[in-house]
Amino acid sequence: MPNFICTTCGTQHAASEQPPAGCAICQDERQYIKVTGQQWTTLERLRLTSRTSIRFEEPGLIGIGIDPPFAIGQRALFLRTPQGNILWDCVSLLDESVVEMIRALGGIAALAISHPHYYTAMVDWSRALGGVPIYLHAADRSWVMRPDKAIVFWEGETKLLAEGLTLVRCGGHFAGGTVLHWRGGADGKGALLSGDIIQVVADRKHVSFMYSYPNYIPLAANVVEQIAQAVEPFPYDRVYGAFWDMVIEREGKAVVARSVERYRRALSGQ
Ligand SMILES: [Zn+2]
Ligand SMILES: [Zn+2]
Repeated sequence: MPNFICTTCGTQHAASEQPPAGCAICQDERQYIKVTGQQWTTLERLRLTSRTSIRFEEPGLIGIGIDPPFAIGQRALFLRTPQGNILWDCVSLLDESVVEMIRALGGIAALAISHPHYYTAMVDWSRALGGVPIYLHAADRSWVMRPDKAIVFWEGETKLLAEGLTLVRCGGHFAGGTVLHWRGGADGKGALLSGDIIQVVADRKHVSFMYSYPNYIPLAANVVEQIAQAVEPFPYDRVYGAFWDMVIEREGKAVVARSVERYRRALSGQ
């Protein structure tokens, strides 16, 4: 039986003979159903129409996306460190070329995903790379559409994946919204892999925060403060957002502080 994939959010669902009645991720007010209605594809079909695209980001970091862009359009990040390799966030397509590249570069010890919009084809990715664990925050457990024994729900505010690689629960966009702190990133100044949780915006000089991006639902000021406080203890200079080229190259920590202040001012009207 196929694992149907929602074409709007890219989420793969548990195996079923017929497509599911609906996609709960897209029925949620943070997402949407297209005017043309709910549509589904499968990994096999996606392989016929799309391919993975791979780009160098910085030493130790390779972006993995889908060409042409599919569903939400994010790219994953394959992070290689002497302490272990991680796939950060995920995409709906995987093919032989990308699996071979990752294997040739040492494989991965685990997947870790910022929030449910990027769970996508995580189970297939895990299986293709040796059945490695998938770290998801337990607060988002109910959004897993394809349960699997590889999924590890972590709890609390931080989780050390390996020396210098820390998952930080920020909340906000999703209750379990997580970023990955990479201490060795940006030439040792530190990097945040931030998904949609701390969203790098178009000018690449600011970040922003939303409960829903497509439907423009903001977050309360105190929630944005909590996100800022969660990452405050970690040194970082660079911020990798969820999409190609959405990267704050330097002074990321000051950028986040300035953006939080701007957000607070916008909400309060001052
Ligand atoms: Zn969906
Ligand atoms: Zn999202």
